[in-house]
Amino acid sequence: MYKEYMASEEDFRCVVCLERTLKVLLDFGDQPFSNRFVPLNNTGDSTKSSFREATSHAHHRINPSPPQYRLRVGSCISCLTVQLIDPPPPNLVRVPNGGVTYTEPEQHLDDVADFICSFTPIGKSSQILGLSPIDGRLLQKLKNCGFSETVVLRTKEDLHIGEVGAGIETIQERVTRQAEELHERLGASRLVVARAIVEHSHDLQGFLSALKTLAGADGYLLLEVPDCERDLHLQEYSSLWEEHTIYFTKHTLGRCLELAGLETVRFKTYTYPYESISSVLVKSKSQTRPVSLMPLQAERELINGFKDSLQAVAQQCRKRLKSFRVGNNKIAVFGAGHLAVSFINLLQLTDCIDLVIDDNPLKQGLAMPGSLIPIVPSSALQTENVRLCLLSLSYDSEIKVSTKNQVFRSFAGEVRSIFRASPNSIFQ
Ligand SMILES: [Zn+2]
Repeated sequence: MYKEYMASEEDFRCVVCLERTLKVLLDFGDQPFSNRFVPLNNTGDSTKSSFREATSHAHHRINPSPPQYRLRVGSCISCLTVQLIDPPPPNLVRVPNGGVTYTEPEQHLDDVADFICSFTPIGKSSQILGLSPIDGRLLQKLKNCGFSETVVLRTKEDLHIGEVGAGIETIQERVTRQAEELHERLGASRLVVARAIVEHSHDLQGFLSALKTLAGADGYLLLEVPDCERDLHLQEYSSLWEEHTIYFTKHTLGRCLELAGLETVRFKTYTYPYESISSVLVKSKSQTRPVSLMPLQAERELINGFKDSLQAVAQQCRKRLKSFRVGNNKIAVFGAGHLAVSFINLLQLTDCIDLVIDDNPLKQGLAMPGSLIPIVPSSALQTENVRLCLLSLSYDSEIKVSTKNQVFRSFAGEVRSIFRASPNSIFQ
């Protein structure tokens, strides 16, 4: 079902090694943006649509042409980094009406803060700079350890970002463009903290070079990026997302830092139930040596497995879902985030799923991008004959929902996870 897109022989430019050796791994064709929910009723006040009206009219009363982009995943034959080919630019990715929230795992930050506190080259009176609100939590911990000069860039005042809905995708672009000006105004920072932003960058080497400018010749960078090794190994296609332009493993991240002229001081990967974070402390290399790009066989096999398994994974999931969907039994996905969007659209499961549950009031009266499956509140678990509920939440949100949401706790059907890493995965 995917093969019509898979024949490209064209080579593209790799954002890591800058060679024209990036090849298409998977081409999913035109895809909707995962934050572009579609009004179920585009003729009036959509928030007043009842659930029954919403479900019965979902496929007839919708905005006909929401924007799309072509989702192509590539891997570089020189440095092996998995990345999106021509990802949509930040102005298209931006959430159209604001309300963006990021849920990054943070339990490991105490360990990171303890390390920095004991790392003597960074003195307590050194300036420490965070790029985005995501860095605020770590900077607060460092402040509590006695670091007195912590600064988080303000989106409006420091980066001149005025657009509604601007998030990390815009911050990475402005930091790259304004690094010289920021350095002049703030001076060099002994430590620049950049969590959960490198993987959103479009001009990766330009962005890393901007961070080096902010840190000056003697400064350090603390970078945190998702370690996608497990996702590639488990063939977790739901993890693909237009906002994540790069999918590092430990090997490709190390290679990338080296290519950027950075020397690793500390490299630690923290593993969470559904995701892993690589946290690295690096500094500019005093001497740059040429980097050899000998590919590793294991890394190659990982990438080939990810490329070759899509169809089998999609079929396996479809078969499992069909076994639940007998008679009037319905299947719901819990959580209307980008993971659910990718799960449904990339595995082509639209016809297997009846509703998506999300209690966010901003998502009521809307349908999922692409699949147009209606989004409904969690009360539907009791009123809609749901036989199977598939969780698509981060691990922390999953715990919160399963312990605090009354409707969910009294749900009589089966509960599974869309994630292949979960012990309760629908794929098992
Ligand atoms: Zn490359």
